[in-house]
Amino acid sequence: MAIVQSRSCVFCGKKPNGKTREHVLPYWLLELTGDPTRVVTLGQDFSKEKKPIRYSWSNYVAPACDACNNKYSKLESNIKPKVEALLRREALSVGDYVELLDWLDKVRVGIWLVRHLIEKHPSKISPNFHIESRIAQKDRMVAIYVLDAHPKGINLLGADSMIFNDMPSCFGLRINEMLLLNISSDFFCSAGCGFPFPATMKLQIGGSNSGKMVLQNFQYPTDTMHPITKLRLFKPVVWLYQPIPWPSTDLNFQGGFLGHVNKFDSRLASLVLEGANARERCSDNSRAALRHTVHFQTSSNLMKLSALPRRS
Ligand SMILES: [Zn+2]
Repeated sequence: MAIVQSRSCVFCGKKPNGKTREHVLPYWLLELTGDPTRVVTLGQDFSKEKKPIRYSWSNYVAPACDACNNKYSKLESNIKPKVEALLRREALSVGDYVELLDWLDKVRVGIWLVRHLIEKHPSKISPNFHIESRIAQKDRMVAIYVLDAHPKGINLLGADSMIFNDMPSCFGLRINEMLLLNISSDFFCSAGCGFPFPATMKLQIGGSNSGKMVLQNFQYPTDTMHPITKLRLFKPVVWLYQPIPWPSTDLNFQGGFLGHVNKFDSRLASLVLEGANARERCSDNSRAALRHTVHFQTSSNLMKLSALPRRS
């Protein structure tokens, strides 16, 4: 069955102008992992006593505007060679990993939106964000695992849980012999990366701001922590964290947080990818400089992907 019941664009949430459909798991990925028309079981139809839903991967699609679809097809064409390189166990640049994190945001949110469509909104929530408003907006992480002797294929791990239905913050994506574990949430790793973070976050329930989060008691850690978070994961091959400061449209407002008055925070800037050159770059585009921040967890038990033997 084709997933086209809802007429909201999976990228921007507006009514699409045409009949374009977006493969939330891109077609190149379906081809890379087997027959794109293979039929799988994923999800349950909550309107029919939780009957398992079976469909072809190639029909795992959502409505999209033509313009949005074209815009994000560039991300797909950029990512394909990077995923292929990872499958060959080659190293990527930090910039490539940032793009991979963008792509994982896209896939994760896309899967969440499609699941609401095919399962008929089991948790009765109305998604109030879409792919465009969620890419590179919140702290995020990817852990990469290498799986030996796995057949070709895709698995979406955790994406069929009820908690994912309410809160699409974490999922695992198996691509042949590689597993990408991806997490993204508000200030999920800011404290550990030495970035400002709110000590309290309260969800407003009721009133005019119902559903919004109130952030209070900002703290300014002076150093990075090891480990960066308390996540207890099996040892991955690559483990990356990226704190994302709260977006601000004021280019002079470096921290992007209410009450943060420093025009230029040299300590924070030293933690961004541009490092010592951040001051000049910030004058042009402070948000980009601060957003493009990646912390590699460098504990001795981790290896770079390139350190692994390549397969023939
Ligand atoms: Zn759109």
